[in-house]
This record gives sequence, structure tokens and C-alpha cells, in this order.
Amino acid sequence: MEKRELLYRGKAKDIYATDNPDVCVMRYRDDLTALNGGKKGSFPGKGALNRRISDMIFAFLETGGVKTHFIKTINEYEVLIRKVHILPLEVIVRNIAAGSFSKKYGVPEGKPLKMALLEFSLKDDALGDPMISPSHAIALELVTEEQLNQISGVAMGINNLLKALFDRVNLTLVDFKIEFGTGSGGNILLADEITPDTCRLWEKDAGVKMDKDRFRQDLGGVEEAYREVANRLANY
Ligand code: UDP
Repeated sequence: MEKRELLYRGKAKDIYATDNPDVCVMRYRDDLTALNGGKKGSFPGKGALNRRISDMIFAFLETGGVKTHFIKTINEYEVLIRKVHILPLEVIVRNIAAGSFSKKYGVPEGKPLKMALLEFSLKDDALGDPMISPSHAIALELVTEEQLNQISGVAMGINNLLKALFDRVNLTLVDFKIEFGTGSGGNILLADEITPDTCRLWEKDAGVKMDKDRFRQDLGGVEEAYREVANRLANY
């Protein structure tokens, strides 16, 4: 496999072409961003930690029957992935009120929700990723009704798998964001990453934040938290 030109530069990852048109290299960077890119930071090794965490989670989900873009780890920062067309939809699953949800609906952070909540946002930084309904997603032709049904079922299944995984390493999965893409045959694959950048993870008993909220809220100990999540998953 030969790594070729940069196809896409995201906020914390880059995607490169390869000599195989169906395969890309995804490279994690050490960058950290928050507030829709308005707050920037980094620490050395952050990309490698997120690569480790996401690879472990994607491999775990694959064994649970979830189809993903993941092919194999190349090195500390790089992964080989199936090339997908990313659907312009951010899929958020919430188990406990936190973040923008708490603010928007006036619900205290930490309140468990009666049922897991599925939300969709239009993936568009310029518009600030506005929340949309399933009807918006279909009417705007972001996805078909069939794709949306499939994505919704897979997202809830991922929530159940991840809640159990994190519970075993003494972390509570508060909420997370995932993205899907369509592969060469039009099949839907879980894409992007699942890391402390995209999940809220709290210590099971003490409730200590072990995710990007440490950076968003200037709590310190960002690197330590990411390293701890990686080590717990690796030792599980
Ligand atoms: N999230 C994300 N990218 C986004 C928006 C949200 O990864 O562009 C994640 C976020 O880290 C959290 C979950 O999705 O785990 C729910 O985030 P929320 O809607 O509460 O937004 P925030 O408070 O992060 O602005």
C-alpha cells in the first residue's frame, strides 16, 4: 500500500489517498479543538492516544456485528480505512444530560435520561452543526428514509455495546457523537472516530470527567485523562 496525496484536512485528523481507490489512510494529529474550532490546543502524543482508543473501540464494535470503515492499524498515528462518502449527519446518543443539551433544555448536568436519546445534527461547521429532526434529514436529502432507519438502529446498538464496554472499565458513557459513510457498494459503515474527543466519559463513582470537557472547561489533566482511558481499555 502506497500513501498518496492529502484528500481532506479535518480539525484533528487528515485523510490521504492510497494506490487503492477504495482505501485511505486516516492520520490522527495532536490537535484539540472545541467551540466549533474557536478554541485550539494540543499535547504531544494526543493523536496516538486517540488512534489507540478508537482502534480498540472499532475492533470491539466489529466483534459485536457493527460494520465499520476500519481495516487495520498502520502505526501509532495512522490507520487504513475503507474509503467512504461521509453522510452529512452527526448522530448523537445521550444517556445522561450534559453539555449543550443541559444548557438548551435547562436540565442539570448528570441527570439520567428516561431513555437513550437519539439526536441528529447537520454536519456543517459554517452553520454551527444545527440540530435537525429525522424529517429534516430526509427532506433535505441528507439520507434516505431507509438509511436513516438503519443508522438509528445501529447507533442504538452501538450505545448498548459501548455502555457495557465502558462500564467494565469503570467509566460511565454519558453521550457520544458518531458519523456514518457509504462504502463503494452503497453499504452503510461506521466512520470517523470514537475517542474522548467525541464521547463524554465520567468516572463511574466519583463522576470525574475523563474526556474533552477537561479541555473545554480548562479543568487541566487532559493528557492524563486520555492516557487513563487508553490504558483501561487496553488492560481490559
Ligand atoms: N460532539 C462531537 N462533535 C460535535 C458535537 C458534539 O464530538 O461537533 C460530542 C460531544 O463530545 C459529546 C456529544 O457529542 O460527547 C454531545 O455533545 P453536545 O451536543 O452536548 O455538544 P457540546 O456540549 O459538546 O457542544
